[in-house]
Amino acid sequence: EPIQIAIDGPAGAGKSTVAKEVARRLGFLYIDTGAMYRAVTWLALERGLSLHDEEVLTALAQEASIQLLRKGDSLAVLVDTIDVTDAIRSPQISSNVSQVAAVAGVRMVLVEQQRAMAKSQNVVMDGRDIGSYVLPFAQVKIFLTASIEERAHRRYLEFMNKGIPVEEERLRQEIRRRDEQDASRDVAPLVRTADAFLIDTTGLGIEEVIQKILDLLPN
Ligand code: C5P
Repeated sequence: EPIQIAIDGPAGAGKSTVAKEVARRLGFLYIDTGAMYRAVTWLALERGLSLHDEEVLTALAQEASIQLLRKGDSLAVLVDTIDVTDAIRSPQISSNVSQVAAVAGVRMVLVEQQRAMAKSQNVVMDGRDIGSYVLPFAQVKIFLTASIEERAHRRYLEFMNKGIPVEEERLRQEIRRRDEQDASRDVAPLVRTADAFLIDTTGLGIEEVIQKILDLLPN
């Protein structure tokens, strides 16, 4: 039976950095479910579709081919063979993705794909509803969090490192709004389940967080 590690938490808590590295060390597949919601959002905006039309968005999720490809140490995201790895991290996608992710039909399509990927191989999967809904029987469940200031600051540094100028206060507002939307939606909202191990990464280095997670693995 494949091993599943579920990592959930709010935006900017360090989920993808940590999940990717844990997966690399264990030789597991890393699945970034946020990238899948971002990819559907990108495609909807690209086609000029209304983000209020749930049926259209669901049909779009169904017909789109979203691929997560390992590319050295990073993950490339393809939508119908178009490389959207960088495009899906834009502020425009970040500010619209929660609306698309709140559509029940979109979630149904993507969750099915996520479960299928975790069926036949060991995975580290990160998102908002992995331990609570997508992989409820995951052997290890983590809830990663950090203060809003720290999360906004990390995002700020990520953009600065890529040479993209951003205002930290704007990022803070955007993250706060996205967290509220993700936690208050009707379908599979962001919650910490009782069986998830809580790690507050405020003031912790990446390596410390990785070690805490590796220590939780059954031998
Ligand atoms: O993880 P990331 O910040 O890239 O996720 C982008 C958005 O996708 C989240 O804010 C949330 O609205 C949605 N999402 C979700 N369920 C997941 C992963 C992401 O609703 N499992």
